[in-house]
Amino acid sequence: MVKMPVNTIPPVDLVRQYKLISDEIDSAVLEVVRSGRYIGGAVVSDFEEQLAQYVGSSYCVGCNSGTDALYLALRALNIGAGDEVITTPFTFIATAETISLVGAKPVFVDIERDTFNINVEAIEAAITPQTKAIIPVHLFGQPVNMTRLMAIAQKHNLYVIEDCAQGTGAKWGDDMVGSVGHMGCFSFFPTKNLGTCGDGGAVTTNDQAIAQIMGVIKEHGSAQRYYHDVVGINSRLDSIQAAILQVKLRYLDQWNEQRREIAQRYHQLLNLVPGIQLPQEIKGGYHVWNQYTILVENKSNQETTTRDNLRQKLQEQGIISMIYYPIPLHLQKVYQNLGYQRGDFPVTEQAAQEVLSLPMFPDLSPEEQERIAYALKDFCR
Ligand SMILES: *Cc1c(COP(=O)(O)O)cnc(C)c1O
Repeated sequence: MVKMPVNTIPPVDLVRQYKLISDEIDSAVLEVVRSGRYIGGAVVSDFEEQLAQYVGSSYCVGCNSGTDALYLALRALNIGAGDEVITTPFTFIATAETISLVGAKPVFVDIERDTFNINVEAIEAAITPQTKAIIPVHLFGQPVNMTRLMAIAQKHNLYVIEDCAQGTGAKWGDDMVGSVGHMGCFSFFPTKNLGTCGDGGAVTTNDQAIAQIMGVIKEHGSAQRYYHDVVGINSRLDSIQAAILQVKLRYLDQWNEQRREIAQRYHQLLNLVPGIQLPQEIKGGYHVWNQYTILVENKSNQETTTRDNLRQKLQEQGIISMIYYPIPLHLQKVYQNLGYQRGDFPVTEQAAQEVLSLPMFPDLSPEEQERIAYALKDFCR
């Protein structure tokens, strides 16, 4: 174990956030514990209603995780063996994994360097007669250009499942992500913008039939208890998590605004540092900065990249940065069978070598940001 200096700046500090609202969280949790009702109930259905309203969708189905949300969405659309689903190779594994889990085939399309999101203009070339859906990922909190994406989907009669795991509260134009496509999948993993004290997830949709099917699949395939119509799973948003999420949802807009201010301050502090490309907000989008991810141009001809050297240097000064994601999905061992090769998605592959996510959470202080900027500039000189 590397010994950390006492005043370490972590990538995310969940204790700081908890301390600010501990009274509300504690009493919400205790209320559930004392009620004896731990599964379902009004706490869960109220949260589902609140999230649907927040996102601007008619229905919301809570479930156990963002991964389950994607799985339920795909199952509800009857996507399975013989089908293809288009997504990005530069995302968390869950996006593609769930496509595989339902028996379908993930088809990757390269990203744009400036947004880290799927290159919408390259999607059409990947569409085949087997394509059933597109899963755009609002990566790092940056919304995908949903106007263009929906136009392509409509032209080819494809479903759109938005992966909003990192983008709760992000907007494309006036629309919240998760309300534009046929479904929006959310994760409440602790480090997400709306994170709980454990696992949780939800799917939003305007389609009542789809919401109903997801409700059945997540309950062991039963609409009526002990009568099972399809093969389902057990995927619940549990009551304690829903109670915590009700509290946190009230703060989400404020926290996202704080993230935007922090991003703005990083822009100012790191403007024109040689060898560093700063992340930009897509025009027409409201970015919610789950991550502030820079690109560190590689000038190293060794095994380790310039990015890795910078990361090490920051760590020596107690600044913990993260690499999302070091290996693109098309180059993962699990996807060797898909037949992709190194070089297939050059923008993604280069990003995987150059990305570095700096500490980002709503309560990161200006002084901490200055310390980060100082260390980073010192390295890049
Ligand atoms: C976190 C995440 C998921 C999965 O969410 P879990 O709640 O951890 O299952 C899916 N997609 C993306 C892009 C994520 O970041």
